[in-house]
Amino acid sequence: MIAPLDVQLDRDDRTMVQPDVLVVCDRGKVVRRCVYGAPDFVAEILSKSTWEKDMYVKLGKYEAAGVREYWIVDPKKKRVLVYDFEHTDFPALYTFMDQIPVGIFDGESGEESMELTEEILRDALHYGKAFTKLGRTAQYIPELRAVNRYYLGICTMDLDGNVLEVGDTRVPFTIQSISKLVSLILAIRDCGADHLFHEKVGVEPTGDPFNSIVKLETKTRPFNPFINAGAITVASCIQGKDADEKFGRFLEFTRKLCNNHEIALNQPVYESERETGDRNRALAYYLKASGILEGDVEECLDFYFRMCSVDVTAHDIAYMSLVLANHGIDPLDGEELIEPQYAKAIRALMLTCGMYDGSGEFAMTVGFPAKSGVGGGIAVPLVDRMGIGVFGPALDEKGNSAGGIKILEYLS
Ligand code: GLU
Repeated sequence: MIAPLDVQLDRDDRTMVQPDVLVVCDRGKVVRRCVYGAPDFVAEILSKSTWEKDMYVKLGKYEAAGVREYWIVDPKKKRVLVYDFEHTDFPALYTFMDQIPVGIFDGESGEESMELTEEILRDALHYGKAFTKLGRTAQYIPELRAVNRYYLGICTMDLDGNVLEVGDTRVPFTIQSISKLVSLILAIRDCGADHLFHEKVGVEPTGDPFNSIVKLETKTRPFNPFINAGAITVASCIQGKDADEKFGRFLEFTRKLCNNHEIALNQPVYESERETGDRNRALAYYLKASGILEGDVEECLDFYFRMCSVDVTAHDIAYMSLVLANHGIDPLDGEELIEPQYAKAIRALMLTCGMYDGSGEFAMTVGFPAKSGVGGGIAVPLVDRMGIGVFGPALDEKGNSAGGIKILEYLS
């Protein structure tokens, strides 16, 4: 979405070349980055990296993501490090500052957002529609099974307040696993990130289905907070004397994160989740037996089933994503809803674990941090740029919105 800067170098025997990614550093600190042809996750990783640190190990990742030409410009050291995957096996160091327009170092100039228009979104929706018939709605409860699988919508909100919506962006659907973002933030607040991530859950992808039980026997802690075992553990860390109180806090916070005070529980979905949730029950009792889950198991599960059964829209989750993209700050009133370092941690977890066992492939093809739910939603925070909410209840075999993924693939 970023228009190319007019930055080109006449290099060696080649005529004007342009990078896929350009990072401007100032004494090892990244002060500016521009992405031309590379997926956003590459930019996200880059923005966290300091000069040259870990760069070499990441090269394979960039290459796999389709980056062909990647420059780091360091004005202080007067050098440009060029990773040219097409023409050399190894990065080459160039010193040709004279050719670089001064404008690229002065912060603001040159980097413009290419305007995302409703027309582009319509095209993306049209593209995604074709894939809805390849998926099917979640089958495990009647309420989800019965949803019209051809629903599809996308809503984007940027930091300047521009909102674009096409398709079924105001159709309610249950938040399902996207609720795991909200509960994670609450649990970090309530029991501290150190305790949570050291004692209770890990931060690594599993490669197993979201409701898998298999790793619990060989590994004490659940792998990450987004698989069900991890999310149930996280739910047990939220304070409240009973499920009602926990859910009250969860609902209030979800409403804030979505900027919608009408968000409410979908009672029939909740009842079905509770009635059919034996696998989650098995996970929870196993976790209790292993000493990971503390407190009353049924109380914890009751809260977990309720948090999954809250109705939201694509518009709502676009706002939640916008808050994450804005480092946890509510863009409307400036209130810090999530501490910036945790917003960053959550975006990172979304990148590696947010799309169930399809996370790796999604990172390759789309490259955005994202969290999906079996209700058909996908929340996508693009840091410093926008929040995206997608809804499409026809799911692929991994449990992700089939049409939704294709919309995002189109936009990326
Ligand atoms: N209620 C579902 C479960 O826990 C949520 C699944 C999901 O969206 O991944 O099984």
